[in-house]
Amino acid sequence: MSKLTDSFGRQISYLRLAVTDRCNLRCQYCMPAHGIDIVDRKELLTFKEMYRITRVLSELGVNKVRLTGGEPFVRKGFVDFLEMLDFNDLLDEINITTNGVLISKHIEKIEQLKVKSINLSIDSLKKDKFAEITRRDVFDDVYETLEILEKSSINLKLNIVVQSGINTDEIIDFVELTKHKNIAVRFIEEMPFNGVGQKEVKEVWNYNRIIKEIEDNYKTLTKLVDGKSSTSRNFKIDNYTGTFGIIPAFTRTICDDCNRIRITSTGMFKNCLFDDGVFNIRDFIREGASNDDLKKMFLSIVAKKPKDGFVAEKQRKSNVSESMSTIGG
Ligand code: SAM
Ligand code: SF4
Repeated sequence: MSKLTDSFGRQISYLRLAVTDRCNLRCQYCMPAHGIDIVDRKELLTFKEMYRITRVLSELGVNKVRLTGGEPFVRKGFVDFLEMLDFNDLLDEINITTNGVLISKHIEKIEQLKVKSINLSIDSLKKDKFAEITRRDVFDDVYETLEILEKSSINLKLNIVVQSGINTDEIIDFVELTKHKNIAVRFIEEMPFNGVGQKEVKEVWNYNRIIKEIEDNYKTLTKLVDGKSSTSRNFKIDNYTGTFGIIPAFTRTICDDCNRIRITSTGMFKNCLFDDGVFNIRDFIREGASNDDLKKMFLSIVAKKPKDGFVAEKQRKSNVSESMSTIGG
């Protein structure tokens, strides 16, 4: 059976699937205060369509899926969908990215599935600051989720978007969380996927600036060996339980061995986070495409995956400014 391989020899094995464009938070770096123009419900892929797309892709070599959004847990039936996906014997891993507000009562059930790791977004450890960033007062719920997940059998990764002048004073507090907690803290470079576009900032907090901040505070930092196609460069403070990493999402130094594709909640196929969508799978399915048609289509689109995020951005019709909630981060 053919595998999904691009013209640079990169094999695609990881699908990021946005199950909704809706969200219960309004994070400043992701969307404006009034939210985004959500699409009509019938424009969203149904769970059956998502299952079919995932199955076909898994027959082409995708063995890992990350479910994201919007907030996956705001979509009714999401946990049933997880159970459905779990039946796909070609999938080794199902991962989830969540803001953690609605997940706690589902954790026991999720632990029984192929969910290996959960990325929990938490951009501040201060209740007021958290409310300012997310525009919602839910810090206690999210922190409770963090503690439950830490004790669960699921690997816990924390996602922190580093926002100049907003939460950079907490970078060391987050690293300190790894002292006793078995978690992976990951600092993400902020990107202009916020519904508005590139912001003016006093100081650019990219990979180099973030690592400098940490190096200035610790003498005993060990670089870890990054897994193949890892999105983060990972480190550990000696004698600490957990690890930390930096995701160079905007400086894009991780494209060489990229193994990822994305499908948005409306079925738009993306070869790269920075492209503006290359093909609508939902329409193709609703027009009656067979699984063989889908396979041929996926193989031909992936073959055109751009070399890196800079090339993908150059090929766009419009500037980067759409909300991450519509793409699926
Ligand atoms: N609602 C879920 C959450 O927040 O975890 C899943 C969707 S969210 C779009 C996925 C990830 O993208 C989150 O970790 C979020 O922090 C990150 N993200 C959103 N907007 C971003 C931006 N402009 N730059 C960098 N990361 C961003
Ligand atoms: Fe919602 Fe996640 Fe975007 Fe925050 S980052 S507004 S939680 S989709």
